[in-house]
Amino acid sequence: MTAHVKPKALTDYKPRDFRMLIDGAWTKGAGVIERVAPGHGSVVSRYPAGTRADAERAIAAARKAFDDGPWPNMTGAERSNILLRAADLIAARADELAFLDTIESGKPISQAKGELGGAVDIWRYAAALARDLHGESYNTLGEGTLGVVLREAIGVVSIITPWNFPFLIVSQKLPFALAAGCTTVVKPSELTSGSTLVLGEILLEAGVPAGVVNILTGTGPEVGSVMTTHPDVDMISFTGSTGVGRLTMANAAQTLKKVSLELGGKNPQIVFPDANLDEFVDAAVFGAYFNAGECCNAGSRLILHKSIAADATARIAELARKVKVGDPLDPATQVGAIITPQHLEKIGGYVAGASQAGASVALGGEALDLGLGQFMAPTILSGVTSDMAVAREEVFGPVLSVLTFETTEEAIRIANAIDYGLSAGVWSRDFDTCLTIGRKVRAGTVWMNTFMDGASELPFGGYRQSGLGRELGRHAVEDYTETKTLNMHIGARTNWWAR
Ligand code: NAD
Repeated sequence: MTAHVKPKALTDYKPRDFRMLIDGAWTKGAGVIERVAPGHGSVVSRYPAGTRADAERAIAAARKAFDDGPWPNMTGAERSNILLRAADLIAARADELAFLDTIESGKPISQAKGELGGAVDIWRYAAALARDLHGESYNTLGEGTLGVVLREAIGVVSIITPWNFPFLIVSQKLPFALAAGCTTVVKPSELTSGSTLVLGEILLEAGVPAGVVNILTGTGPEVGSVMTTHPDVDMISFTGSTGVGRLTMANAAQTLKKVSLELGGKNPQIVFPDANLDEFVDAAVFGAYFNAGECCNAGSRLILHKSIAADATARIAELARKVKVGDPLDPATQVGAIITPQHLEKIGGYVAGASQAGASVALGGEALDLGLGQFMAPTILSGVTSDMAVAREEVFGPVLSVLTFETTEEAIRIANAIDYGLSAGVWSRDFDTCLTIGRKVRAGTVWMNTFMDGASELPFGGYRQSGLGRELGRHAVEDYTETKTLNMHIGARTNWWAR
């Protein structure tokens, strides 16, 4: 039995009615999308159902704001100051934003508050980078030539985000696009749009001019498809599933937009016999069950050395049983609700499929009835092999698959035997082992003797079908720029006709 925290009904909470932000004005939609809280079962938010026409208006506003200014023409210092003001306002409203993310996504409130702290840091980091954006000069091309390489804002950027980290993910994109001088159309997930809409209020208050940030609510096929195909959009920054990422890239190909994609993962943790098992067991439980496993970085595949597999699995199960699952608003909760009833069913399907394919359910495996909302018990599947769907596909739920290895080469082969390459972990006290795994595993981040740590300074993104491009890190603003060469001639030119 896992530890449960029964959800309390939101009897006193009045659902919040939101509007979209287009060209600096708050706009109603033609219809309404109602969000039912996954942890409490009642309607908590209503967003406008944006239409194609809304998307076209928002793109036109962003285009005008870019082409006519003032945003792209401001100094880096001016944009930086506005981003810093935004960071302060986000910090001041962090409790409200964390509450919205919690009731709409079902994540634990203590975790949502942590994500807000991380987001504030990212806005401050982007503000610092806004002042440092610069190109290069070449004074080495001979007496008659001076080369200057400019970094120019790329233009209008469509930003599309998923539901699992609503405020954090928009914060990994928007402040960097703004720092570069771009204008934007932002679409949060239709399941968790609240905190992104509050961000719109914050940005207007911070001094971002009308039209620079437009925020649309609505579905992907209706609104997102316009944002990814419209000829006036110069770049798309997308985080979501690999399937929609693929579609986004195909849509972008029609007008050759730049694309940045942060997609799915099936991330391994490789554990050697000399690892500090106490530290690893905690990281295994954290990696698998943080955000109920609805996390692109989830450590959903353990690749354990055969000699320690039984002991490590038993210890992980023992700790996982103590994890507090339940009411997202209870400060003690560690694992919250599953995003929708349909998604809960999908997770259950993966567990059933793995059992049929020969894996054993070492812990959990079933949905939890806590009276309200939808929850899933922390689950461990042992005896999983690389060919099973549960070992290859993103389950996006609290399901941990345990595989085993005997040699380092075999561990690397298993780790790389999937289409994804977002992140990985290695546990060993041996320096050579850690570095060998760090170099050979094809993933955008490799953690050594830790898991899922991060910092605004460290680039994040995936190899292969986990994505394209990197977010965060000191090059994050450059991603939202074009490179322009100024090739300047000094003195008399060698005449082509007369030579
Ligand atoms: P999703 O792909 O279903 O939706 C993501 C966004 O795309 C939503 O805003 C959605 O409305 C929009 N969308 C859907 N169809 C569209 C279309 N036809 N055109 C344009 N936009 C469209 O993903 P999700 O279920 O919201 O999120 C979960 C996925 O996100 C997981 O696969 C997860 O791994 C991934 N993710 C990746 C990262 C990362 O940084 N690599 C981070 C978080 C989540």
